[in-house]
Amino acid sequence: MPEPVHAVVAGGGIGGLAAAVALARAGARVTVLERSRRTGDGGGGLVLYPNGVRALDALGAELGARVRAEGHVTAPDEVRAVTDAHGRILAEEPIGAHGLRLGTPQVPVLRSVLQRALHEAAVAAGATVRHGAAVTGGATRGDAARALLADGGHLDGDLLVAADGIHSALRQHLLADGPPRYAGYTSVRGRATGVRMPLPARVVNGRGVQLFISPAAPGTLYWTAKITAPPGAWPAKGPADALRDLRAATADWDPPVVRLLHATAAADTVVTDIHDRDPAPRWTDGRLALLGDAAHPMVPALGQGANMALEDAVVLARAVAAHPGDVPRALAAYERERLPRTSAVVLRSRAQGAVDQGDGAAAELHRNRLVREQGRKDTRTEDIHAWHPDHRREETVDHAART
Ligand SMILES: Cc1cc2nc3c(=O)[nH]c(=O)nc-3n(C[C@H](O)[C@H](O)[C@H](O)COP(=O)(O)OP(=O)(O)OC[C@H]3O[C@@H](n4cnc5c(N)ncnc54)[C@H](O)[C@@H]3O)c2cc1C
Repeated sequence: MPEPVHAVVAGGGIGGLAAAVALARAGARVTVLERSRRTGDGGGGLVLYPNGVRALDALGAELGARVRAEGHVTAPDEVRAVTDAHGRILAEEPIGAHGLRLGTPQVPVLRSVLQRALHEAAVAAGATVRHGAAVTGGATRGDAARALLADGGHLDGDLLVAADGIHSALRQHLLADGPPRYAGYTSVRGRATGVRMPLPARVVNGRGVQLFISPAAPGTLYWTAKITAPPGAWPAKGPADALRDLRAATADWDPPVVRLLHATAAADTVVTDIHDRDPAPRWTDGRLALLGDAAHPMVPALGQGANMALEDAVVLARAVAAHPGDVPRALAAYERERLPRTSAVVLRSRAQGAVDQGDGAAAELHRNRLVREQGRKDTRTEDIHAWHPDHRREETVDHAART
């Protein structure tokens, strides 16, 4: 019997752990190298759209079932309201009907829940997850890929998956394209339990601030505020002061929103500036492949970063399985399938993010008029949400076989 391929995965976030699950289930030996000392519980939540839920199901039916059970499955009649800061409804987005039409619901979930489910599934599939292992760079030869470690050691494998996030060290090794681009806004986010709101699934459009609120688990709401600001200003405050300043900036907003922010603890608050990058010309170099935010960091305006990372993981493992004994060809097929789709989503997210901020009176009017006339964006992103793990697979395999 041939030796199983050894995949070394740098980064144990959503993308890296999903790749570990997919590759291990496809028969690979997998080692995940994660810089932090333990799997993070990361503050708030995120929305898995139908495409991400389908990717999760493809990683393992029980994984999809677990995240549905621990997250919030959007009900068929559920609506997400878009309001102005004072609670006046600008539009209603029928997110339940949207899921029905696509055959798969949206599932908002706490990051900690998704991360834990992926971690446990990776270990159950036979992957090894090494914490406290920071990757500083990589090297690829004809027949091997090497991850270089901060402690001076290294780990060799047949392929090296760079899933080390937006500030990826391995991306710099491959592309040397410098730091990511600041989008012009920061994100303060958190979660609260036991808060009841009349419109629990909601987007609040303020001037230079947009607040997204969603149920993410039974009794738990998460929220994300995107705030137009100079780079570094809000992260420098730290979570407690950022939360205080956000509460002050929104003190005259709709009372249920004010209560939600006051019910959030500083310990559950995360502050980061938002960045993205221009689409990359390539993601692979023989036995090295970028995945997730390392490959295609995008602003969260369409909520697709993690969804795309889950899709990447499914496609990568299928490409590796379809090209036994030929890792470079498998990675080339993966790049060919994933790069065009994710590049388009990066650019659409960037455009949507610029409109969403409504920074200044004219921009605020423009954004709110668009929302009134066209509704919110989810109905215009059905092409993104319609992704199915089996739709492009044969094409990729066939195309790769011809080259
Ligand atoms: C405010 C906000 C809201 C969002 N909302 C959504 C949403 O609703 N839906 C959605 O799909 N996406 C959303 N996203 C995007 C999503 O969070 C990311 O796209 C996703 O987390 C990317 O996963 P990743 O595994 O590629 O990177 P990360 O989650 O960043 O994971 C990278 C991992 O690599 C580790 N690492 C880093 N460097 C090294 C190193 N040198 N060596 C070893 N390990 C290393 C890190 O510790 C981390 O564990 C949102 C993002 C933000 C900021």
